[in-house]
Amino acid sequence: MKITVLGSGSAFSSPRRFNSCYFVESGSRKFLLDCGSDAMRAMQKAAIDFFSVDSIFITHMHADHSAGLPGVLTAMHVMGRKEPLKVYLPYTQTEFAGLWLANMFIFAEKWSFGFSLIPLKSGKLNLGDGAELQFIETKHLEKYSEQAERLGIVAVSFAVIVREGGKRFYFSSDLSSLKEAAQHIAGGVSFLEATHPPLEEVAAVSGNNEAGIYFTHIPMELEDGGEWREKLDGKFGIKRLNSVYDGQVIVL
Ligand SMILES: [Zn+2]
Ligand SMILES: [Zn+2]
Repeated sequence: MKITVLGSGSAFSSPRRFNSCYFVESGSRKFLLDCGSDAMRAMQKAAIDFFSVDSIFITHMHADHSAGLPGVLTAMHVMGRKEPLKVYLPYTQTEFAGLWLANMFIFAEKWSFGFSLIPLKSGKLNLGDGAELQFIETKHLEKYSEQAERLGIVAVSFAVIVREGGKRFYFSSDLSSLKEAAQHIAGGVSFLEATHPPLEEVAAVSGNNEAGIYFTHIPMELEDGGEWREKLDGKFGIKRLNSVYDGQVIVL
């Protein structure tokens, strides 16, 4: 299994850290986990072959995880991709996504390749060749439930585990608390997000980094060398944040 970090930034991305996007090669499959608003540029910068991606999995519809989809689909079309593409989105929002894309005049039947929008639900997806994806619902969007329900929207978000043979990769995506991640981080490699959980929780992990635990979704105040980071170190004891960086490749 090979993971290329394309975007390790928070919703407020920067030239150093793009929005959430990861390229995973597992078994015979090559796919994106998340497609944040910088995804096209992030793929170009890391020299990812736009034709090689067979699927895109979007963990939730916040723009820093989903808004790059129209650009990536357009880039693939402009380049003349032929292979079909599967796009998995939270199960409550595939219909919206179809209309969203249609309103940008992105139609599968007009595109150089076919793409399908597939509802993503909690559970397991067999990738073949002994590889498997598991999606776990998280509480990240619960704070929007009241407003969302008024519009008939289910506020659903997912964390992801990729398994291949004995290898294991856990990606928390966005969480309300690292407690949600605790039961999933044993063994393999884990990417935990650093923006939304209480900083005391980030500090607790950063002070006791187990092998294989990396932070991602890094907000600017947690970047090394900044004034905020020094203040946060004084207040929360965040010593060494073992974070991934854009362009980093991790092979399991
Ligand atoms: Zn996010
Ligand atoms: Zn989010």
